[in-house]
Amino acid sequence: MLLTLRGIIPCKEGQIVIWLEEWPKIPFTHGRTTYMKFDLLKTLRSFIAFISGKKEQQYTAEKKKTHSIEKKKERSTERKRKTPAEKKKEHMKFRELGLPPNMLRAIENMGYKEMTPVQEVTYPVIMSGRDLCALAETGSGKTAACAIPLIQKIDTAKNTIQGLIIVPTRELCIQYVDEIGKTAEGSNVVPFAVFGGFSKEIQIAKIKHGAHIIVATPGRLIDLLYDSVISLSNVKCVILDEADELLQEGFLEDIEFIMSCMINKHQTLLFAATMDDDITKLSHDYMEDPQYISLIKKRAAPVSIEHYFTYLHPNRKEAELKKYLEGEGVSQAIIFCNARHKVDKLFRDMRKHYNGIEYIHAGLSQDKRSSIFRQFKTKKLRYLIATDVAGRGLDFTHVSHVVNWDLPDNGTQYTHRTGRSGRMGKRGRAFTLAIKSDLPKLREIIRTKKITPHWIGENPLQGDDTLQKEKPEKRKMHYRPSTVKKRKDGGADRR
Ligand code: ADP
Ligand code: MG
Repeated sequence: MLLTLRGIIPCKEGQIVIWLEEWPKIPFTHGRTTYMKFDLLKTLRSFIAFISGKKEQQYTAEKKKTHSIEKKKERSTERKRKTPAEKKKEHMKFRELGLPPNMLRAIENMGYKEMTPVQEVTYPVIMSGRDLCALAETGSGKTAACAIPLIQKIDTAKNTIQGLIIVPTRELCIQYVDEIGKTAEGSNVVPFAVFGGFSKEIQIAKIKHGAHIIVATPGRLIDLLYDSVISLSNVKCVILDEADELLQEGFLEDIEFIMSCMINKHQTLLFAATMDDDITKLSHDYMEDPQYISLIKKRAAPVSIEHYFTYLHPNRKEAELKKYLEGEGVSQAIIFCNARHKVDKLFRDMRKHYNGIEYIHAGLSQDKRSSIFRQFKTKKLRYLIATDVAGRGLDFTHVSHVVNWDLPDNGTQYTHRTGRSGRMGKRGRAFTLAIKSDLPKLREIIRTKKITPHWIGENPLQGDDTLQKEKPEKRKMHYRPSTVKKRKDGGADRR
């Protein structure tokens, strides 16, 4: 067909008039006039397609294809443009794991979308059935790292204990079993906590009724094993959580006994925040070709925490603590003391000035401990005065400040205490009240834990070359300490 073009007349924006000798009978014309007004883009497209003999649909399909290729290219260049740090932040999503739908729903209800690094790296190992010895910082999500694969291993058709988790404290036991309960929601997996200070008869009744996963402290578990209430012969997977703490608490023999009760082949997972010779020995004795994973960075004290210190006379401690708490935007604070009687005394003094304050130590009944623990976790309390019973593994998401009323005994204890704030990347603040006799130990903690100290007031370690250079203080301080008085007693208030 030959079309003779007599002219193209630009009309208003996006429209032209095409003037032909004679208009052919083509699908896009509306009549047989010799000139017509068209929408430029739409019409030219159909016109060209018609002239080149292509069908309209073909054209559109091709266009779409080119468009999607361009989009893909764009996305990939965007990805390439991201810095390594940005790339690092992208973690696997739980929905990419192919989890059973009810479990995925439960996890999403808990607010988890992406896996934390420890979860991402341990998941395939745990699912494969291999033994695992993992080191990870406190607050990194080790509970769910175990709970999610463990629940999937449970055969609910069998009414036997198939998973066992051993933890060092009663509070951790409650916390762990809560997390398993939430993750297992919608499935028939039954978790149960076994710990001392709570009615043994009730626990026995519950176990007899049926439980698939037991979370236990060593003492009560051994009691129940002696009473033949519990059988561990069907356990497929045993987890030693906070293993370094279990050993420090002197539970080695108990663990050895418990492990000897697991007569059938099983998987062993060991989680700790610090690796020492005892942990290495434990992994050699009770694990078969374990995969070792360490996510501990060189800097052992959690980096999301700012470490503040003040040097003062012991008589000034209470006044300085009050000033500090008033000058800070405290969401929740834990105040650590080194002994029960100090907790009692500080609580008696502080309760006169503060509401929403409680104390916790091993001298309280289990009921009272559990109740305070729950109240603090659900933010019904603002201040908690505690011994190190609250120093390990417990997850208090809202804690913004940790105060060391007494300097902890060593760097590990310092890391665990201060790790109660700054959970899951939230910023936290640690404040340590140091007296003269603390200085040698304090120097050691700062050095070994590579802490960048911010001194409020006088820095008694100034000029100490063994320590890294202190960063200048940028933050505007609301709080100023009183000057340190010279001590006469040489630190007699220490334990
Ligand atoms: P750890 O045992 O390593 O000290 P936890 O298991 O107690 O740490 O977890 C610390 C906090 O992180 C908890 O509040 C937990 O609910 C939260 N958490 C765990 N996994 C995730 C995740 N994938 N996404 C968001 N929050 C998480
Ligand atoms: Mg934990």
